[in-house]
Amino acid sequence: MGEGANSLFPNYGSRYGLTFVKGEGSRLWDEQGKEYLDLMSGIAVTNLGHVPKQVTERLKAQIDQLWHTSNLFHIPNQEKLAQLLTANSCGDAVFFCNSGAEANEAAIKLARRYFNKVLGKPEQYEIITFQQSFHGRTLATLTATGQDKVKDGFAPLPEGFVFAPYNDAEALKQLIGPKTCAIMLEMVQGEGGVNRAEPEFIKQVTALCEQHGLLLIIDEIQTGIGRTGKLFAYEHYGIQPDIFTLAKGLGSGMPIGAMVGKEKLREAFSAGSHGSTFGGNYLSTTAGVATLETILNEKLSERAAEMGDYIVNELSKQLADNPLVKEVRGLGLLIGIECTQPVADLVTTLQEQAVLVISAGPNVIRLAPSLLITKEDVDRGISVIRSVLSKQAAAAVQ
Ligand SMILES: *Cc1c(COP(=O)(O)O)cnc(C)c1O
Repeated sequence: MGEGANSLFPNYGSRYGLTFVKGEGSRLWDEQGKEYLDLMSGIAVTNLGHVPKQVTERLKAQIDQLWHTSNLFHIPNQEKLAQLLTANSCGDAVFFCNSGAEANEAAIKLARRYFNKVLGKPEQYEIITFQQSFHGRTLATLTATGQDKVKDGFAPLPEGFVFAPYNDAEALKQLIGPKTCAIMLEMVQGEGGVNRAEPEFIKQVTALCEQHGLLLIIDEIQTGIGRTGKLFAYEHYGIQPDIFTLAKGLGSGMPIGAMVGKEKLREAFSAGSHGSTFGGNYLSTTAGVATLETILNEKLSERAAEMGDYIVNELSKQLADNPLVKEVRGLGLLIGIECTQPVADLVTTLQEQAVLVISAGPNVIRLAPSLLITKEDVDRGISVIRSVLSKQAAAAVQ
């Protein structure tokens, strides 16, 4: 911890008392030179590992050229990244911002404005989201989030959000009314506990959207950019959202967010309706183009699918007789180990054993390794996890 730590707001708590000074691939080194195996990727961000040379080379070149001019002018790599995203998805137009929350904020604004200005139905502004979801920390996106803890102390919250239980189409149906304009969800709830949407549920969600003329918004901020074994997680379900949002993995750690929407929504964001000073600037979109091209050229989504299956199978086998472990589940390289007790201490013990993981909700250990992680590193990580969890199980019996 540096001397400046007391000059920060304490909203991130104690930060585990760890400071990393160097990274490469799936490795991080702390101030003492101790090496760590990274199975969390800065919360599902560094999908190509730390300091990936496919990105650093292009970023270095861009740093010597130009950093920022504003969205008053054309930005070549912003246009190139938008083209890459639309060519490889069901979307037709992109808005760039700087974070996930901003991408979801843009999605919420676009949905409302489409109903208000394009359809002439300003009374339809309500968005249905889901319990245990996470959509960000701005006032609108924390309101959209289905977890009370992120809303604590921030009233009054903006109107126009209602919550359904996840994977429950009947309950969802009951919430659709004359004010509803959109349904917004994650295909895998990342922060909420690595909960996968069931295919049958998604089929009914899309049918309800069609039947009632609602927009379908998919939050791909954690699941997108190859993480779940497809470029975007919605592809697993054979659906085409009207809007989807990206951030975390898109820039390999450079701050960037994006909202992608279908053609019919284009005019809802007419000139002057929305904007961002930094959004899609030279540096973040250079990182975005390099990241996305690498994921596509090296077929890293497929790799994530294979490696993810391997990890879930191995963990299921090796943790099968551990009474602390309730379930191992995941989609690609977004994996959860649900335990019968809170996992905060286990996360710290794993850190002491030089393996970095994160929790997802109180009882789930979440793994989100680099899409380029080697089998050797995976095997080592699994073996440390198994040994830490079996020691904990033995201690619980005594
Ligand atoms: C992380 C995350 C967000 C918020 O992204 P920020 O960049 O922290 O604003 C929103 N939705 C999901 C699903 C996320 O995982």
